[in-house]
Amino acid sequence: MTTRPARSAARRPFMEKDCGDVPPPGALLIWRDSRHYLHEDSGPCVLCRKPAHLRSHAGETVHKACAEIWLTAHPLEARLGRFVSDA
Ligand SMILES: [Zn+2]
Repeated sequence: MTTRPARSAARRPFMEKDCGDVPPPGALLIWRDSRHYLHEDSGPCVLCRKPAHLRSHAGETVHKACAEIWLTAHPLEARLGRFVSDA
């Protein structure tokens, strides 16, 4: 029997300890964790409504570039931690 531990790891939700810092405006998010990548399912980006295959730590389907643009455009709200880099 073949097990796929990588798949179950990819499905684990993000925990507080997985969340790093909010990048400063204009900086890039660091999303290296494979759990950011939606495999067979995708949905509309919460910011631009086009199909996206990434999710934030909070589980929002979003393009990384859209999240980075949002962080730059909303520096005060960004500090609340909607989009953060990996720990
Ligand atoms: Zn988008």
